[in-house]
Amino acid sequence: MTVLRLHEVRRTYSTRRSFFGGTEQVSAVDGVSLCLERGRTVALVGESGCGKSTTGRLALGIELPDGGEVTFDGMPMPRPGTKAWRALRRRMQLVFQDPLGALDRRLTIGVQIKEPLAIHKIGKPAEHEPRMHKLLAAVGMRPDQADSYPHELSGGQRQRAILARALATEPDVLVCDEPVSALDVSIQAQVVNLLSDLQKEFGLAMLFISHDLKLVGCLAHEVAVMYLGLIVEQGEPAAIYSRPAHPYTKALLAAVPDPGRRGPRPLLAGEPPNPAARPTGCAFHPRCPIAVSKCSRVTPALLPGADGRLVACHLAHVDNPLQERVS
Ligand code: SF4
Repeated sequence: MTVLRLHEVRRTYSTRRSFFGGTEQVSAVDGVSLCLERGRTVALVGESGCGKSTTGRLALGIELPDGGEVTFDGMPMPRPGTKAWRALRRRMQLVFQDPLGALDRRLTIGVQIKEPLAIHKIGKPAEHEPRMHKLLAAVGMRPDQADSYPHELSGGQRQRAILARALATEPDVLVCDEPVSALDVSIQAQVVNLLSDLQKEFGLAMLFISHDLKLVGCLAHEVAVMYLGLIVEQGEPAAIYSRPAHPYTKALLAAVPDPGRRGPRPLLAGEPPNPAARPTGCAFHPRCPIAVSKCSRVTPALLPGADGRLVACHLAHVDNPLQERVS
């Protein structure tokens, strides 16, 4: 069942030009559509600055879109700061990358998990203590860790505490913005597995934002690959990992070390372009190893292929792109 929906959502910022003065428009999110369903995870993947976090804030109504629509339970998202929006915020929680920054160093973990229960008047005050311990247990923490201060815990334990606090309000939607990128690789898998378990247990609709395409494989039911504010490929992880259709997705997957890989490794050349000066046509064309002349002139639409996957590439459905390139 769909809980949260983004339909053709756009967000543009005006930024000041540093040298010549005046302002320029930066299209951070350009026509993104996503559907968050109960018990399912959508992973939003791409390089830093591609618009993933802005999409997360738009999904939660923290920012207003310039175009398109965000709906929650089929109703338009209320304006941020209004009473209706604050009431809805209890049902939507955000988990950040930096667990230490998200916690108050002066308060114990137990107090911080109970805080949202008091703020949102959930249950009777006498019920808050046992409820906090249930949440600690749900995220795999010991009861005595309720008395710990954030600096007394490891990074993984702090992220578990953040998750316990986020779950305190019994949200329908959890937006996780790079929730494990500050953690050691060995701990990342534990937290991702925990998120997967929590999602099943609580029936959460989850948006998992990450720069690591491989990391989201065991968690996501759908993957959306983003480049310069646009979704360039979207579909089931199994199809995307086994047969990536967009050259950018291929390059992201190729960037993941894999000792068993055979054949040449398609490398991603250069840095992402300045979003304020997005290339004409396909935004990826200056870095694309198979670009044809049409790519710099015509923007490819995000279209469904034979397996239902959406791809924005002129050559996605061509059997031999190199042949197309010379023809
Ligand atoms: Fe490459 Fe052209 Fe496809 Fe863009 S449209 S990804 S430049 S082949």
